[in-house]
Amino acid sequence: MNPQDYPPDVRELIDSLTRMPGTGRRTAERLALWFLLRAGEDAARIAQAISRAVENTGTCPNCGFFANRGELCTACSDPTRDASVICVVEHATDVLPIERSGSFHGLYHCLGGKISPLDGILPEHLAIDQLVQRVKEHPNCEVILAVGNDVEGEATALYLTDRLTDLPCRISRLAQGMPAGAGLAQADAVTVMRALNGRVNLR
Ligand SMILES: [Zn+2]
Repeated sequence: MNPQDYPPDVRELIDSLTRMPGTGRRTAERLALWFLLRAGEDAARIAQAISRAVENTGTCPNCGFFANRGELCTACSDPTRDASVICVVEHATDVLPIERSGSFHGLYHCLGGKISPLDGILPEHLAIDQLVQRVKEHPNCEVILAVGNDVEGEATALYLTDRLTDLPCRISRLAQGMPAGAGLAQADAVTVMRALNGRVNLR
């Protein structure tokens, strides 16, 4: 005698839900039961929202941020944005924290990652040529390197600085110095290197 189980469609739903990050079998089962027993019209609405978002969302051909497929993103299509400032980030998801800070009104450039030879990520795998092209199209622009301050981020910033060095643009880096209240002994090597490189002349 076969043991009782959910009908095949429900089992398929549970299996599909377990593919989502952070969703184990028990969570998937709980969600599936919620869809079946409690969600009502929300179930169809959620299913539609997922397929619409996946079908219609692509990346902005200019900066690589999320956009409607084949269209520019909100920032790139906004004429009130300052096109002379380009903030370079690793991933499209890095844009939103900067946007939400409300302190940046320029445009973005998403690299799609950071240089990491150990992981097989080389400059040619990132949107670096596209950045160089954008800078060439906007002489005298400012490029803000907002990549991470870990080893790979530093390598990426160094590489970008090198690639942009002969172009008529200003290059700046997000200010990240020694942690407040901590001495050199508590700081990691990258922080110390950044603190040294970012030193200011006092006289
Ligand atoms: Zn864009």
